[in-house]
Amino acid sequence: MKSKVVLLLSIAIFTAAISFGQEVDPKLTEVYQPVPVKVQPGKTNSDAPTDAIVLFGGKNLDQWISVNDTTKPAMWTVKKNAFTVKKGTGNIQTKQKFTDYQLHIEWKIPAYITGSGQSRGNSGVFLAATGPGDEGYEIQILDCYDNTTYVNGQTASIYKQTIPLANACKKPGEWQAYDIVWTAPRFNEDGTIKTPARITALHNGVLVQNNTEVKGITVYRGKPYYKKHGAAAIKLQDHGDPSEPISYRNIWVREL
Ligand code: MG
Repeated sequence: MKSKVVLLLSIAIFTAAISFGQEVDPKLTEVYQPVPVKVQPGKTNSDAPTDAIVLFGGKNLDQWISVNDTTKPAMWTVKKNAFTVKKGTGNIQTKQKFTDYQLHIEWKIPAYITGSGQSRGNSGVFLAATGPGDEGYEIQILDCYDNTTYVNGQTASIYKQTIPLANACKKPGEWQAYDIVWTAPRFNEDGTIKTPARITALHNGVLVQNNTEVKGITVYRGKPYYKKHGAAAIKLQDHGDPSEPISYRNIWVREL
């Protein structure tokens, strides 16, 4: 009886907290179990096939713009066939918009990374940028080789939604790859969801999301939800935490 009262009280407090929107404690949606099994990935990454749209081939960020001001080019730093987050310049996104696609993207956490939890090489791939800032559907990028955080926020999670099936992280300093199949959500005329988005993802060749149903756009506080949108850009995150910025290379997409 006593436990029932405590449970009802907890639900009431949570519901009341949600009604205050921004006041919801982010910890309420942080999950720590079960911890995904660690897997040692293979060594190869893959090059663009002939029918792919190359979003970054090593030379310039011509395919990318700044999210803060979409009339401006992306300000991140291009060097040695890769580009690196330039802190404080904000997120970047593709000029082109996509609906359903297959995406290949490689990323590297600096070898000298510091910090812990969510402040250790945090970036992210937003599969459909639905608005400015961090709006969209985020596959998390983070160093989780030897770093613990809430498991629905670790590398290859659908952030704050779905725990990855494995932890395939390589050591900081090594290039890693995501291969992602994105099926965009479909909406009814009135804006309600018709069919939710789906994500299949491999991290360094290891299946981490298996046709996972997406619950809505990524939300830091509270629950995800859907908001009607059409074709959308692919966005990369300048997370703004104090750890060293991460790099990207070899990005290509195949429209489906
Ligand atoms: Mg992130």
